[in-house]
Amino acid sequence: MNDCIFCAIIKGDIPSRKIYEDTELLAFHDVNPQAPVHFLVIPKKHIRNIMELESGDSALLGRLLFKAQELAAALGCADRGARFVINCKSDGGQTVDHLHLHTLGGKPLGWPPG
Ligand code: 5GP
Ligand code: ZN
Repeated sequence: MNDCIFCAIIKGDIPSRKIYEDTELLAFHDVNPQAPVHFLVIPKKHIRNIMELESGDSALLGRLLFKAQELAAALGCADRGARFVINCKSDGGQTVDHLHLHTLGGKPLGWPPG
C-alpha cells in the first residue's frame, strides 16, 4: 500500500519511536498520546481493518495480542491494567487504514467512549 502511513513507518520512510520489532510485528509510541502510556502494535502485513481479517491471520493476531500484553507490562501497566482497543472503519473511529491495536494506560480511563 503506497499511501499507507503505517506501511511507511514499517519501511522506515516515516520516523517513529519504536518499542519492539520482529519479522511480523512492529510496536511504536502513538504520535498523539491520549494517556501516559499509549502505543500501537501493528502487523507488518497490510491488513486494512479487523473486518478484513482472514482465518489464516489468527496466529498473527494472537501474537499481536500477546505482544501488547508483554509491552504493557514492561511499561508499567501490569498491576493497574490498561485498555486495549482496535477501532474499525468510520463508526469505530478508525483514521489509519492499517490494522492497529492501541494500548492505553498509566491513568484511569473513562468509559463509555462518546
Ligand atoms: P485510529 O484512530 O485509526 O484508531 O488511530 C490511529 C492512531 O495513529 C492515532 O492515535 C494517531 O495519533 C496515530 N498516528 C497517526 N499517524 C501517526 C504517525 O505518523 N506516527 C505515529 N507514531 N502515530 C500516528
Ligand atoms: Zn499499511
